[in-house]
Amino acid sequence: MTYSVIKVSCESCSESYQGVLNDIFQVNGEYATTCPKCNKQTFIKNILNGGILTDEPPLDAVSIMTVKILKIT
Ligand SMILES: [Zn+2]
Repeated sequence: MTYSVIKVSCESCSESYQGVLNDIFQVNGEYATTCPKCNKQTFIKNILNGGILTDEPPLDAVSIMTVKILKIT
């Protein structure tokens, strides 16, 4: 299993935390994560650098959900 770990900055409280996706980021994908400090969602789009690939995610990382993968037309 491959995980992608990226640094996320909360849009609400500016908290920085590590997010982990149980997959590889798609450049055209939209993802969401929940801030561990204020519980607000931050959406992640246009991921140019796919983060760090690992098969063992950091214990304190927050899960990243896939919102949608945009189709390239
Ligand atoms: Zn926050």
